[in-house]
Amino acid sequence: MNPSLLQTPIDYLKGVGPNRADLLRKELGIHTYQDLINLFPNRYIDKTRYYKINELQRNNAEVQIIGKITHIKTVEQQKGKRLVATFMDETGQMELVWFRGHKWIRESLKINQPYVIFGKTNWYNGFSMPHPEMELLADHEKSLRTAMQPVYPSTEKLTNKGITNRVVNKLMQQLFVETNGKFYETLSAELLEEQKLISKSKALFNIHFPQSQELLSKAQYRLKFEELFYIQLQLISKNLSRKSKIKGFNFDQVGTLFNTFYAEHLPFELTNAQKRVIKEIRNDLGSNAQMNRLLQGDVGSGKTIVGLMTMLLAIDNGFQACLVAPTEILAQQHYNGIEALVKELGVNIKLLTGSSKASERKEIHDQLENGELHILIGTHAVLEDKVQFKNLGLAIIDEQHRFGVAQRAKLWHKNAIPPHVLVMTATPIPRTLAMSLYGDLDISVIDELPPGRKSIKTVHRYDSNRLKVFRFIKDEIKKGRQIYIVYPLIQESEKLDYKDLMDGYASIEREFPKPEYQISIVHGQMKSSDKDYEMERFVKGETQIMVATTVIEVGVNVPNASVMIIESAERFGLSQLHQLRGRVGRGAEQSYCILMTGHKLSSDSKTRLETMVGTNDGFQIAEVDLKLRGPGDLMGTQQSGVLNLKIADIVKDNDILKTARYYAVKTLKEDQNLMLEKNKILRYTYQQLAKHKNIWNYIS
Ligand code: ADP
Ligand code: MG
Repeated sequence: MNPSLLQTPIDYLKGVGPNRADLLRKELGIHTYQDLINLFPNRYIDKTRYYKINELQRNNAEVQIIGKITHIKTVEQQKGKRLVATFMDETGQMELVWFRGHKWIRESLKINQPYVIFGKTNWYNGFSMPHPEMELLADHEKSLRTAMQPVYPSTEKLTNKGITNRVVNKLMQQLFVETNGKFYETLSAELLEEQKLISKSKALFNIHFPQSQELLSKAQYRLKFEELFYIQLQLISKNLSRKSKIKGFNFDQVGTLFNTFYAEHLPFELTNAQKRVIKEIRNDLGSNAQMNRLLQGDVGSGKTIVGLMTMLLAIDNGFQACLVAPTEILAQQHYNGIEALVKELGVNIKLLTGSSKASERKEIHDQLENGELHILIGTHAVLEDKVQFKNLGLAIIDEQHRFGVAQRAKLWHKNAIPPHVLVMTATPIPRTLAMSLYGDLDISVIDELPPGRKSIKTVHRYDSNRLKVFRFIKDEIKKGRQIYIVYPLIQESEKLDYKDLMDGYASIEREFPKPEYQISIVHGQMKSSDKDYEMERFVKGETQIMVATTVIEVGVNVPNASVMIIESAERFGLSQLHQLRGRVGRGAEQSYCILMTGHKLSSDSKTRLETMVGTNDGFQIAEVDLKLRGPGDLMGTQQSGVLNLKIADIVKDNDILKTARYYAVKTLKEDQNLMLEKNKILRYTYQQLAKHKNIWNYIS
């Protein structure tokens, strides 16, 4: 079939007039034949089997049962009446219920005649089925049915305007008539063969008109594979072409600074994971291509030192480096830590933030431009256009999720040749998902914590147990430890949150009076100089308690702090809870995380709390998070486009994703530009994807 036929406007399909076409466009985004064919059913109703009443499960599946009505009654209720029929088979009985249309239903129902009923069941002291579809068994046996009925995505408006599921089904049939059900193949013979996939035409037919459960599964697999395969093909191919097109600085020097630091100044033995990652980075830096690497590592896994050593490599090769952090506190902390480590190496390092004084700025700008400054650490201020480097060779971005792709791009424009970019993130994303989201980045993972860390003990306590928690805090303070108490800060209710924080602060002040106890407070509405002052008192150990909103979420490092108390923990997302917990457990002492909540908890909140109590593993937590929220809410996924998947589900179909990625890599390795004869179909489809965005609107 001619592929362009699929680009025919939907108005031309028999049965679709201007009104319907309009509705289909507005409600479902269906503009063309292609769009309609890609309207995949959400689910299928299996009318291939009959259930017995004693087999019914307490789920909301739709089932088909054969039995007889033995009794009908009308039940008065507060608002109107309902009609209730007792329905029996040889295994038990249930109720059929109608809230509307009593009169004619009552008249049409036949007592003691075998019926086939179909619908959703409810359970309340027994099973019932509201408004069942009913057919006398005798008629049922005569009628012709397809094995499984597809249920298409719909909207209220569509249903109200008469475009019911049945109508969509009819239109789909019409489409298959007009196209002869023959669709051009979009995967190569080789892939079909190796993966034992069914043809495109067969898959499309069976996704809409399944001939059997087995063929439906095959159809779904084939279409999911195809969808994920082309996403991967596109991502990987972009990455490859970036590497071949964009020249990068070649850091070919062995590196005196790097080696001296490694031999004489390293404060600890690197973990194997850190060593492996440094090797991966060195490979990139010497490859003549621009590095664009994402470094994932759980909180506390030691990403900073990896970043620092990468910066030393840059300086060794005569380049400047910068490190950008999302908050002033973090930038300051990086500056302090890194400056202390490289002080004796003669590295010139400076800090630039929104609150840097004009005179400091002037000096920084001058030294950046004449090349005297080796390392610049700072906040977004570093990205401003007026900050110009003599030769920026490496940019490191800490805690990726606060930065958008656009900001990363800004760094590129600081030079004719883009600097190498290393993005460090503690938001653990399952690897395959990360590969899909950040397909333009290569990925390194630090999957090992430095030795000797005691794992953090996490507990969940109800607000009613607060006094016990306070006693525990006092004991820990007596031992010389420091405590974080964190309150939620959610934009929509900022005022309320602020009030909660202040109320909390007041009660903590009462419970922990001066001068015995000193308390710091940090929140978003403070001036940044005040924040820094308060933070610093805590870092220096002058205060024992830090009351804060989530501003401390990212990166702050106070090894003596051993208790993290999270107030209204049910209001935080899992990854945020995990980030917060990562603020403790940085010293040699046993650390604790206490999740405080009220008694009323949603089931998702319970799952989040249980997950936190159950594991310290960020990747495991990320998996749960992903399942709870779906990928849509994950940071940075909105722009990435991989979420408007037509049929695959990036979480549930992870195995297919892995396979698809494997084949995409294999294909491009062998034939980067898809020029081989056997890949002709792939090349053609790939080009179509770029041309007709609506074919697969998940391609960004
Ligand atoms: P993150 O990955 O969260 O940014 P950091 O780089 O801040 O972690 O490191 C957390 C703490 O662990 C720091 O105090 C750091 O000095 C320490 N650290 C890092 N690597 C090691 C190591 N290999 N052995 C011992 N301590 C380490
Ligand atoms: Mg960090």
